[in-house]
Amino acid sequence: MIDFGQRALPGVRGLRAYDPGHDLVALRRQFEQPLVELGSNENPYGASPRAVQAAGAALERMHVYPDPRGGDLKRALAWHHRVESASIVLGNGSHELLMQFAQVFAGPGDEVVASQFGFAVYALAAQAAGAALMVAPAHSSGHAMPRGHDLEALLAAVGPKTRLVFLANPNNPTGTWFSHDSFAAFMARVPEDVIVVIDEAYAEFVDAPECASALSLLPEYPNLVVTRTFSKAYALAGVRVGYAIAHPDCIAVMERVRESFNVNAPGLAAAEAALGDVEHLQAAVDGNRVQREALASALRVWGLVVAPSQTNFLLVEFGPETDRVEAALRQRGIVVRPVGGYGLGDCLRITVGTAEENARLLVALGAVFA
Ligand SMILES: *Cc1c(COP(=O)(O)O)cnc(C)c1O
Repeated sequence: MIDFGQRALPGVRGLRAYDPGHDLVALRRQFEQPLVELGSNENPYGASPRAVQAAGAALERMHVYPDPRGGDLKRALAWHHRVESASIVLGNGSHELLMQFAQVFAGPGDEVVASQFGFAVYALAAQAAGAALMVAPAHSSGHAMPRGHDLEALLAAVGPKTRLVFLANPNNPTGTWFSHDSFAAFMARVPEDVIVVIDEAYAEFVDAPECASALSLLPEYPNLVVTRTFSKAYALAGVRVGYAIAHPDCIAVMERVRESFNVNAPGLAAAEAALGDVEHLQAAVDGNRVQREALASALRVWGLVVAPSQTNFLLVEFGPETDRVEAALRQRGIVVRPVGGYGLGDCLRITVGTAEENARLLVALGAVFA
């Protein structure tokens, strides 16, 4: 009998699979009423009707392969972001692309830099590729963005073996962000042979003017990569579409290892339609902003510490009560995300729901605290 654990490549040997949180399918079966699902940062308002219709039409033709180039979606994205199509690679979610950047650009003997409390996929991507992960400490509690990325610390972690830096703006699970200006200054100091992947999964939710996208820095920095996703603000998490924008030479190399039909036909069609439905996106972003501020205020009234957020979720400190609160909410059909795996065992990550969902959360929390 083969010892598969030992036979796996060195990077994979020490790896633990991505933790997707609770088994929602099992939980849904357990409860008669629909759950309040605030654990996965999904968009509670649902996808654009135009995207649903486009995906349905694509399903009618499921016997044919999708466009392996994703040409229509790339052209729509190119126009949307004012870049060329050759600067874009599509992924089966941006998760796939994050893994692929590490696979292509980092290996045994190389180092990958990421922040403490950074998105879990960065560590997974580095380790799966066999590279060493170097973790830069996050800001501490005295800072305006406690637990947020510390760009100085990230710079200090970059050394001669560094091939890649992964960072998120805003970050998941902290919701924190750094300013465009500080990131521009960071890029100016990163060696030009180090590839910097900035994950902007929540960019559409951002309204702080200082937290502008890094896309505008692309012409200046060929070593910069920006990733985006249709899973969050565009509400297409179930059909798996993400993309990266970078220098065409970088994208050309990524295209060599991309699985030829990685984005399926309903996903391509839905993403293109969703991109065109500006009003639907705006309604979700506006709804999120109003509900996020209302939920944060309500939680702070209880004396809870709520991290600042430019996303569709809040990181909330429950201290020693964290596990009890999480379990009690779950018993009441409300799912939030434990983040102990991030070293944040005193916090829960709570996705901002609709007004009704947030009200149910607050009622349940009231009962738990009573
Ligand atoms: C949700 C998320 C992603 C990606 O999701 P996909 O569905 O794979 O596109 C990437 N980065 C961060 C920080 C996220 O929170």
